[in-house]
Amino acid sequence: MQTLCESCRHLREIITPKRSRFLMCLLSQTDPRWPKYPPQPVGTCAGYQHGRSTDSDADHP
Ligand code: SF4
Repeated sequence: MQTLCESCRHLREIITPKRSRFLMCLLSQTDPRWPKYPPQPVGTCAGYQHGRSTDSDADHP
């Protein structure tokens, strides 16, 4: 099942050096109602905004 997060502008995709993939919700940084790593797949979400930028980003420690 496709998750809403994939097309949401609040998504930050984290790829670890071992190629594990995590979907981080940037809304969690400003609003405690959203978990940092929402359980997937997300089917409905009040914070969803269409328009994900294409940059996927590895998290640099
Ligand atoms: S706002 Fe909702 S749909 Fe968007 S990334 Fe966060 S949890 Fe996913």
